[in-house]
Amino acid sequence: MRTILTDSIKIAAYNVKRGDLVAFPTETVYGIGANVFDEKAVSKIFKIKGRPADNPLIVHVASKKDIGILAKEITPSAKKIIKKFFPGPVTVILKKNEIVPDIVTASLDTIAIRMPSSKIARELIKLSGVPIAAPSANFSGSPSPTSFQHVMKDLSGKISCILVGPASKYGLESTVIDCTGKYPVILRPGSVTLEMLRKKIDKRIVFRKSTGRIKSPGQKYRHYAPKAKVKLISDYRLRIADSQSIKEAKVEKQKEAFIGLDKKYLNRFEVVKICKTIEDYAKNLFSFFRECDDNGVKIIYCQKVSEKGIGLAIMNRVKKAKHS
Ligand code: AMP
Ligand code: MG
Repeated sequence: MRTILTDSIKIAAYNVKRGDLVAFPTETVYGIGANVFDEKAVSKIFKIKGRPADNPLIVHVASKKDIGILAKEITPSAKKIIKKFFPGPVTVILKKNEIVPDIVTASLDTIAIRMPSSKIARELIKLSGVPIAAPSANFSGSPSPTSFQHVMKDLSGKISCILVGPASKYGLESTVIDCTGKYPVILRPGSVTLEMLRKKIDKRIVFRKSTGRIKSPGQKYRHYAPKAKVKLISDYRLRIADSQSIKEAKVEKQKEAFIGLDKKYLNRFEVVKICKTIEDYAKNLFSFFRECDDNGVKIIYCQKVSEKGIGLAIMNRVKKAKHS
């Protein structure tokens, strides 16, 4: 299949309308989208990504009024979140309306809804005339794409259109919040942080790690993983021990990389990304994973940060990327 690379939102919307898949920029990561009401188009997303059928998609809307078409009831906590954080990098889970095909929600009776702050994404949804079901535009399990070049690498020849836009502002997927219960529960941390939500929405909000009953099916899968082995920098001592024994065994040293905030690691690794701020760390994590794979890096050391603010989302992604 020939993949058109375009910056015309009109052309991209035309592709959505005729039942094809379009990759498009958002402020979180690039998405691969289809008309939410077109089951055949949505099924192509699962096929092309190699996404398990029990991992539901997030449905993207251009305006708040479209939420009422997709969800049965907008709970008081969802109303608050929508008021304070939509449009933005946050997704609410609500009871779904029958109009939404089961394939989109993996047959759950709930639906994930997000309104992107990216103007390009919203314009695409508007011109398509329908909400767009869209996961990240990568193969299942690999790091999410944060630029159109990443999407090209994974999906050229497999989808009909890539809408070109800027690199993603946040670089991590949205915060997913279950709003169907007594109080909201974070199922996936993101750039809208637990602290922000506790302050603005409800003090009782918690992040529920995906142990026990699986509420958010996507969280049970290994995710975000580059080909290189990922380690937290607290493993650094181990690394010194490792390289010592490697040297002794006269085995060629493996190419290693580092990403984090601490300048002291600048000259100790072959590929290094020192981030100025924690937001910068979040923004660069996935693109760094991809850069490392392109450079044949064998081990990526990620600096451990405290699980506060956006640090919770960074550590969540790094832990999922670690090979067990
Ligand atoms: P992705 O589209 O790859 O960013 O993944 C979407 C995330 O949202 C996955 O972790 C899904 O499991 C989660 N998700 C989507 N729909 C629902 C839902 N109805 N209930 C719970 N989690 C959901
Ligand atoms: Mg994804």
